[in-house]
Amino acid sequence: MNTPLPPRTQAGYPTASSLGELQANLSDIHARIHAACQRAGRDTQDVRLLPVSKTVDESRIRLAYQAGCRVLGENKVQEAFRKWEAFTDELPDLNWAVIGHLQTNKAKLVARFASEFQALDSLRIAETLDRHLQEQGRALDVYVQVNTSGEASKFGLSPEDVLAFVRQLPAYSALRVRGLMTLARFSSDEEHVRPCFTRLRTLRDQLRQDSPYAEQIQELSMGMSGDFELAIQEGATTVRVGQAIFGARTRPDSYYWPEANKT
Ligand SMILES: *Cc1c(COP(=O)(O)O)cnc(C)c1O
Repeated sequence: MNTPLPPRTQAGYPTASSLGELQANLSDIHARIHAACQRAGRDTQDVRLLPVSKTVDESRIRLAYQAGCRVLGENKVQEAFRKWEAFTDELPDLNWAVIGHLQTNKAKLVARFASEFQALDSLRIAETLDRHLQEQGRALDVYVQVNTSGEASKFGLSPEDVLAFVRQLPAYSALRVRGLMTLARFSSDEEHVRPCFTRLRTLRDQLRQDSPYAEQIQELSMGMSGDFELAIQEGATTVRVGQAIFGARTRPDSYYWPEANKT
C-alpha cells in the first residue's frame, strides 16, 4: 500500500471563506481520519483533530467556532495571545493550543492563556512555565517536541535525549506531561516521512515502560495537512491540520521553519 502522499504545495488548498466551505473541509478531514483509522484497525475516537488557525483572521475564526471548533492550534505565541484576548469574553470556551517553539520571555503569556503547549524542548522553558503556572494556580498539558527528521531547521530534542529530559520533568508539577509531538520531514516521499512517525511512537512506547510518568504518557501529536493519514497509520492521537481546513497560507513555511525545504 504505497500511495504517494499529496505534494506539499500550498497551491492545493483553496481558501475556505464561508461557514459552508469550512464545514465541508472539516467533514472531509473527519471522513479521511475515519477512513485512515479503519485501515489501521484503530478507533476513530482515539484520534483528535486539532485545527491550526495561524494567519487565519478573526472573522474566519468565528466561523470555525460556529463549525464546532473548540480548540485551535497556533504556532506563534503572540498571535495566539492576541486571538485569545480578542475572543475570551465573546467565546470563553474557545481554547488555544500553542504548538510552536517558545522563547523564555514568552512563557509567561503561555502560562496565562494556553490550554496546552506542544513544543516543550528545554528545561529552561519547563522551569519558567512551571513558575508562572504556579503563580497563577494553573496546570498545563504539555507535549515534548522531538526532532525526528534530524533536520537542523526543525525544533525539538534529539530522540536520544528524550528519556533523560522527561526524567527531569516531575520537578515541575504544574506541567502535565501528556506525550510527544513531532513534525515529519517535509517530503512527498512516504519513505522519508513514515520513519519520523515510527520513531516518535517507539519513543513514546519506551517512555511508557521507563519514565516517571509511565502510562500517563499516551499522546502522539503528529501529522499535518500533507501527511496526517500516514501519521494515523503510525499511531497519531492528535493530528494538527491547518491548510486543508482553512486554505493555503500566504506566509511561506520558512517563516515557521527556517530553511524548510522540500525533497
Ligand atoms: C502550521 C502547523 C501545522 C499545520 O500545518 P498545515 O500544513 O497547515 O496542515 C502543524 N503543526 C505545526 C507545529 C504548525 O506550525
